[in-house]
Amino acid sequence: SKDFSGKTVVVTAAGQGIGRAIAEAFAQAGATVHATDINTELLAKLTAETGIATTKLNVLDDAEVKSVLGAIGPVDVLVNAAGFVHAGSILEMKDEDLDFALNLNVKSMVRTIRAVLPGMLDRKDGTIINIASVASSIKGVPNRFAYQTTKAAVIGLTKSVAADYVTQGIRINAICPGTVESPSLQDRMRAQGSDFEATRAAFMARQAMGRLGTPEEIADLAVYLAGATFTTGQAYAIDGGWTI
Ligand code: NAD
Repeated sequence: SKDFSGKTVVVTAAGQGIGRAIAEAFAQAGATVHATDINTELLAKLTAETGIATTKLNVLDDAEVKSVLGAIGPVDVLVNAAGFVHAGSILEMKDEDLDFALNLNVKSMVRTIRAVLPGMLDRKDGTIINIASVASSIKGVPNRFAYQTTKAAVIGLTKSVAADYVTQGIRINAICPGTVESPSLQDRMRAQGSDFEATRAAFMARQAMGRLGTPEEIADLAVYLAGATFTTGQAYAIDGGWTI
């Protein structure tokens, strides 16, 4: 696998779940990793367990995005992992939920990309990975209106940036996971019913492989794509066969 020694990697929402696994995978591949998250307790735990450098970064705050990413200096790989899942159909959704989902799932990526892209263009080199979902423009999933709408936008913004900068050394791709074992998935399963095991079994039943994905499996694809020099503007499904 590719050696990322001498490369600087920034990951958002790296405190737990997929973001954390991606930060750890790039560190194992030799990169200098800056793991960021809004939750400083999770970051302290990550540093204590792995030695990875961490910085508090709330991706809803444009000034903080500019100052934190500016202080890190040239970024070779940016991974945008921040995202939140709202439950509900279009009729059940609150307007403020859609506004929040647009802000956290989409505009956060606009902020971080604007902060690092000029430096990447100066060096004519840089790659960006956005965590979308198969619940997006890829597959209609019940009860996920705000989430699915914003994750489709992540694929759109990925293709737009890819098209604008394909000749200037920039590659940007989206990873579209299916259902992945993560702390927030556990929370969602608990929220959906009193019978945790039954809810879990229902999540499992829609898995073609009969199991959930792991954050490490998603992280493998992120590291692969960061080194996959002939691909840009693509949405990579990684879903245990859900969308076969
Ligand atoms: P998670 O939901 O368990 O953790 C999310 C992390 O984001 C937390 O550490 C949290 O502190 C951080 N965060 C929240 N608000 C933030 C903010 N304003 N600024 C910075 N950080 C913030 O993680 P997960 O389930 O692995 O999800 C990670 C990404 O993968 C999300 O974009 C999610 O939509 C996407 N995804 C997850 C699944 C899944 O099944 N878990 C499936 C498809 C896509």
